[in-house]
Formats: sequence, C-alpha cells, structure tokens
Amino acid sequence: MKSAEIRDAFLKYFESEGHSIVPSSSLVPGNDPTLLFTNAGMNQFKDVFLGGDKRPYSRATSSQRCVRAGGKHNDLENVGYTARHHTFFEMLGNFSFGDYFKRDAIQFAWKFLTEVLGLPPERLWVTVHISDDEAADIWQKEMGVSPERFSRLDEDNFWQMGDTGPCGPSSEIFYDHGADVPGGPPGSENDDLDRYIEIWNLVFMQYERQADGELKPLPNPSIDTGMGLERIAAVMQGVHNNYDIDLFQHLLKAAAKATGSDDLEHKSLRVIADHIRSSAFLISDGVLPSNEGRGYVLRRIIRRAIRHGHKLGQKDAFFNTLVDALADVMGEAYPELNERKAQIAKVLLTEEEQFAKTLDKGMGVLEDALADLSGTEIPGDVVFTLYDTYGFPVDLTADIARERDLSIDQAGYEAAMEAQRQRARAAGNFKVDYTQASLDVPATEFTGYSELAGESKVLALLRDGA
Ligand code: ATP
Ligand code: MG
Ligand code: MG
Ligand code: MG
Repeated sequence: MKSAEIRDAFLKYFESEGHSIVPSSSLVPGNDPTLLFTNAGMNQFKDVFLGGDKRPYSRATSSQRCVRAGGKHNDLENVGYTARHHTFFEMLGNFSFGDYFKRDAIQFAWKFLTEVLGLPPERLWVTVHISDDEAADIWQKEMGVSPERFSRLDEDNFWQMGDTGPCGPSSEIFYDHGADVPGGPPGSENDDLDRYIEIWNLVFMQYERQADGELKPLPNPSIDTGMGLERIAAVMQGVHNNYDIDLFQHLLKAAAKATGSDDLEHKSLRVIADHIRSSAFLISDGVLPSNEGRGYVLRRIIRRAIRHGHKLGQKDAFFNTLVDALADVMGEAYPELNERKAQIAKVLLTEEEQFAKTLDKGMGVLEDALADLSGTEIPGDVVFTLYDTYGFPVDLTADIARERDLSIDQAGYEAAMEAQRQRARAAGNFKVDYTQASLDVPATEFTGYSELAGESKVLALLRDGA
C-alpha cells in the first residue's frame, strides 16, 4: 500500500464509523501562542477538548501535518539517527469530543490495524499507563491481547501537548519489526533501539494541565489518537526504516541527483529529504527564514540541509530544486504545495545564496580550529565566531561536532555571546545581525490561518516585492 492509499483508508474507515473528515490545519497554530508549531492532530481541537469551542460534530478524523523541531516535542536531533523520526510528518488521528471513550477507541484502533490493514496481532505490542486497569482489562479480556505482548509504563503512557493544556493517560501500539533488528520491547532496557516501533498513541483525554502543574478534570472525557503515516507506511511496505517508504525513496533519489551522490542510505541525504518537507511546508504555511521565533527555526532547518549538501560535495544551490520532487509525491494531498512551489523554491534559493557567502569560509575556520583541538569539545569562542560572523546556528555546529564524536562548549559560547552584548551596550549601539540586514525577504508576519486561503500574505509580498 502506498502512503496515499493508507491515508485514504484511514480517513474512510473512521468516516464509516461516524467521524467527520476535517482538513489538516496550518503548521502555524492559529489559536495558540503557547505552541511553536502544530505538533499533533489534536492541536486544532484544543479548545474543543477544553470545552470552550463547539463543533457541529462530536467525532472527527484527520491527517494533520506536524512539525517537531522545537518546543516540548522536538525531534530535530533524531533525524538521520533513528529509523522513525522526522521534523515533518503526517499524523493520522481520530477524535471524540465527549462522545466515545476508551473501549471504542481501543476497538477502532485494533480493528483498523488487524482487519482493515490485516496486520498479524502477534507483531503488535500494547502499552498502557501503570494506573490504568480499565484499559488493561479491555485490551486483554475483550480484545484478547496476550499478556506477553503487553507492558504498563509511567511517563511514556501519559501524553501532554505542552507544559499546559489537555492531557491524559495513553495506550500505545508498537510494531515488532522482527529479530533481525536490535532492540527490546517497550519498557525494557533497549527499547530505544528501533526493533519495536511505536505506531499509534491513543490518548484518553481527561485533564487540563494548569500552569502550576495541577491536573484539572476536563468537562467531558474525550479521545485523541495519533498514528504517524510514515511509520505505518513502513510497516505496510515491509520495510523497517521510514526512509525506505515510497515517498522518501522518491525524495532521496531527487536529493542524490541534486547533490551528485549515489548512496541512498547516506545520513546526509536522509536529513536533506526530511528537511525539504519541513522547510517547504513551513514556507507554504507562511513562515519565512528570519532571526527569531518560528522563522529562526526554519532558517536553522534550511541551513542544516544546505550544510549536509555541502558535506556531500555540493557547493552550489541545490536545496530549492527539491521542491518539485516534493510536489510530485505530496502535491495531490496538499494542492497548495503545487500552487506555491515557485515561491517556496524562491525563498529557499534566497536562503541558499545568502548562506553560500559564508558557509565555505566558516567550514574552513572550523576545520582549522579542529586541527588544533586538544580534547573533545569545540571551544565556545569558535562556536560564537561561526554563529556571529559566518551565520552558523549553534545547533548546526553541534550537528557537525556530533558527526565527529565531539561536543561544543555551550557555556563558553554563551559567555562569548554575553560579552558581545555588553560591548554593544557600552558602545551605545545595537548590533545588526548581518543575516537580517542583508536578507531581502521580510520576516514572518503570520496573521492567522484565515488569510492563507488562496495565497498567503507573506508570499504575495515576496512575489510582488522581490
Ligand atoms: P516516539 O516515542 O517514537 O518519539 P512519541 O511518543 O513522541 O513517538 P506521540 O507524541 O505519541 O509520539 O505522537 C503520536 C504518533 O505520531 C507516534 O505514535 C508516531 O507514530 C508519530 N510520530 C511522533 N513523532 C514522530 C516523528 N518525529 N516523526 C514521525 N512520526 C512521529
Ligand atoms: Mg517522541
Ligand atoms: Mg513514545
Ligand atoms: Mg507516544
């Protein structure tokens, strides 16, 4: 089954069970200043769970685009290192707003996996919260899940969107990719190795976490579930690693061609294939590279991708050319990607040209410093110079360090940064960051999802003004 077919099968199944199909919301949350980017399907329903918003339906299903590259759920550092994490992914979900609760949520999920998709129950592993006897009984007594493929966990079975907001105990379903892959079942010592991969999280939404940490019961117990499309696609396509699914293979081939490399399993290619998705979708949703907030997260993602291309020997602009390959595989599900692809490519090209001015020289500075290095830590003043003069975000330098089994002196970097601020203050002026000053695109001015109908304001500005 292709990724697109799985997405359709999921939405149709839940529609047949009385759920309204709701389109994905923007990656920039329209209703929530506490959230950097949309990180789960439930985000657009947050106020419905909390009781402050009413919808014409009490059951919904969606395929939600998500970015986890900052905030509470941050997977940027996992990309390229695990088989299962992306910065951008699609989360399939079904939701009940005070309608059904645990029993139905469990039955729907089990039926979808074992009957609609036909997965063998002996490859699945279920977890529930240590306190949740009710869910444990439903799984074992009613669904017939073997106690041998079952664990009860604490933090891993309690889901929360952020430091505040809706939350509750959860039950998760894992797929066992088989003894060829190292790793132990959930709750065991080696569960972070990717043999048992978490595919679906069923959250029993019961509380609202208050700023002081207290758990306040919700007006109506509700259901929020999330299943990563790329992870279930890997299962259905008989591959272990998400990067081996149809969609990523297309992107990897395009990235290989654009960078002139031929090893489709190269970590740098995987990072590039991942990052083109998050970058393109963030731009499509109105974010532009800048030096603060959401725009800086986007800039960091783009620059990391460019640096990985550089590492593969591609010194010219290449990243922007991948937008076409992305539109090939995702344009049907997200028509706005097709409509905006020229503008997206233009934003990426601008960022590539900008960073090209300093990347090569900065790498030279770093290589010189590494040649003189004693110990395993890149000194803070080097990290600062790379940031300040060459436009290397700190996490980009840390990414290079990690590839070479080194780390960065974070405290030393912060001290250098502070010293710089004090000098600027003493001189009575405020330093203008070169990246901002010479960047000819406006910073993000996101003013709400409603304005994104048709063409976003920022992209219109860019088109007319650039
Ligand atoms: P993991 O433990 O593997 O990091 P998670 O527990 O953080 O996943 P949830 O917050 O429970 O994930 O999200 C629900 C589902 O979304 C997961 O079961 C998984 O299928 C998918 N998912 C989560 N994070 C990612 C990611 N970075 N890339 C791809 N899919 C993801
Ligand atoms: Mg995670
Ligand atoms: Mg997890
Ligand atoms: Mg989870």
